[in-house]
Amino acid sequence: MLGLVLMAGVVGLGLLMKVPARLIAVMLGILWLGFTGVHLLFFAAPHPVKDAIGGSLPGWLGLGAVAVLVLAYRALLARLRARAVEPVQATSKPGSFSEAELDRYARHIMLREIGGPGQKKLKAARVLVVGAGGLGSPVLLYLAAAGVGTIGVVDDDVVSNSNLQRQVIHRDADIGMPKVFSAQAAMLALNPFITVHPYNRRLQAEDAAALVADYDLVLDGTDNFDTRYLLNAGCVAAGKPLLSGAIAQWEGQLSLYDPARGAPCYACVFPQAPAAGLAPSCAEAGVVGALPGVIGAMMAAEAIKEITGAGASARGRLMIYDALWGESRQIAVRRRPDCAVCGGAH
Ligand SMILES: [Zn+2]
Repeated sequence: MLGLVLMAGVVGLGLLMKVPARLIAVMLGILWLGFTGVHLLFFAAPHPVKDAIGGSLPGWLGLGAVAVLVLAYRALLARLRARAVEPVQATSKPGSFSEAELDRYARHIMLREIGGPGQKKLKAARVLVVGAGGLGSPVLLYLAAAGVGTIGVVDDDVVSNSNLQRQVIHRDADIGMPKVFSAQAAMLALNPFITVHPYNRRLQAEDAAALVADYDLVLDGTDNFDTRYLLNAGCVAAGKPLLSGAIAQWEGQLSLYDPARGAPCYACVFPQAPAAGLAPSCAEAGVVGALPGVIGAMMAAEAIKEITGAGASARGRLMIYDALWGESRQIAVRRRPDCAVCGGAH
């Protein structure tokens, strides 16, 4: 009996002195080895030590077997638990989806017009968004959420307090931070399965065409005509479709400019920038906060349609939304053969 009493004493003392459970187990193991060894040595004959320890050889062996079984069960449980809480792998092979991605995009995949093939096209797509402001905010968030695999974002501005009334991708804590980095952080926080390329600079004539050539589709959410014309020329040169949106005060518009596929370019529809003062910017004339949300979300929807081939494209149609009167309308737009930008191209 002394054997069991000793073991209970070790456990009791160990718990009292807050000895780690692993150490108590090791000490119990040593005791068990000693007791079982004595029983083995004096298996046939009686011996005072054996009698003092008490029990029998089968009894001690049985106790050891039970202890091994309990330890093995605990190890198995620990391994299963570790596997259950393993972090989701935020990367998967190109062209295939992890379980987490399939679950994430389930509402897309069940749409007849998108489905699994459409979601694969979204994952393989490379979209360049110029401007991480009012229009860029919903565009970038929805494209990231939709699982567009590679998103480039161009902007040279930093987040300011007066942006936050409508530029919902940025946070109060981001004030002073370059918009492309604030936007990148928000997009990756929303969807870690995508890649974001931030370009913290203003689009330049020298690299517009080269940058555009690296992407399948370009979205224009800029706030100035110089960049718009520059971007349009770059897209025409590279033969890339340009989904362009614009907003002012209560009204917004968008269209898909694509002379390589029969639609006009931006300069076909707007050959000249309006005279200074005739088309004031948001900073000069104001803009209602939700308007870029409406137009930007429409741009994101058109981008998803363009990538997946769903529905009717916005080529040759200028869509206009007037928030003040709650009206929307469409104007058919055509290529101009004498367009200074795309007249000789395509
Ligand atoms: Zn044109």
